Amino acid sequence: MAYLASPYKTSEVIKKYSFVFRKKFGQNFLISPAVLESIMDAAELTKEDTVLEIGPGIGTMTQYLAERAGKVIAVEIDTALIPILKDTLSEYDNVKVINDDVLKLDLNRLIEEEAGGKPVKVAANLPYYITTPIIMALLEKNVPLESITIMVQKEVAARMKTGPGSKDYGALSLSVQYYAKPEIVTEAGPECFMPRPEVSSTVIKLKRYEVPPVTPQSPEYMFRIIRASFNHRRKTLVNGLTNDSSLSLSKEAVVNALAEMGLREDIRGEKLTLEEFAELSDRLKG
Ligand code: SAM
Repeated sequence: MAYLASPYKTSEVIKKYSFVFRKKFGQNFLISPAVLESIMDAAELTKEDTVLEIGPGIGTMTQYLAERAGKVIAVEIDTALIPILKDTLSEYDNVKVINDDVLKLDLNRLIEEEAGGKPVKVAANLPYYITTPIIMALLEKNVPLESITIMVQKEVAARMKTGPGSKDYGALSLSVQYYAKPEIVTEAGPECFMPRPEVSSTVIKLKRYEVPPVTPQSPEYMFRIIRASFNHRRKTLVNGLTNDSSLSLSKEAVVNALAEMGLREDIRGEKLTLEEFAELSDRLKG
């Protein structure tokens, strides 16, 4: 039975092992059964599924996952947590704990070895200091996965979900929305964690598309255009693109491409949809 999601049980485990929370690893452990249940419902797990959990901590969510999925692979960077996980997960024979940095692991190989390459579901209460690199590594490196259900900082969830015109809209929104459909699941205040973080959190589910919603000639080039467009928020799109020397674009080429699309010369990147970035990238690539 999953039993760790309470302040009392979490403190007991922390005391038993004299565990010291490490801020540098973004350690805020979940103590809310209601939030954990919401994550489980959103992840839609069955016994056919392999789940990849990033940062199991003392195993609070891992217990829930092990009870619902066929297999759980949990990657934890902090060596001090490994003996604790051995203890808290001792009654589950379908969990494999790997002591490593998730950003250094070859996840494609791991999933090939552990799930025969069958797409996995990712579930995690992410360490906030590396949320974006983890999400981008999962999406851009074509890791075989069906969905990602994660707890992130509230503002980061807003950036992933929002569309053109909002102050939160940027390269992260466009990358996430090229690969996946984002859905907000629930909110979690600081009281849902031990120790309490200074920020509010949101659970978001990213359901990976089988076919992306746009098909530029070169997605890689489109993402270079997107990143350059948002490099200088206050600049116009034309300035952002022509100031990026690696793109070697003339002002005339960018102004012409925008005009052909019926867009103004002084438009900013935050006004363009994903479809418009795909079209612009094809026009500029020639
Ligand atoms: N899943 C647990 C829970 O919800 O109670 C812990 C979540 S805590 C926010 C983040 C966890 O990620 C910590 O256990 C931390 O040590 C681990 N972590 C931090 N950086 C990591 C990395 N680069 N690779 C793997 N795990 C990491």
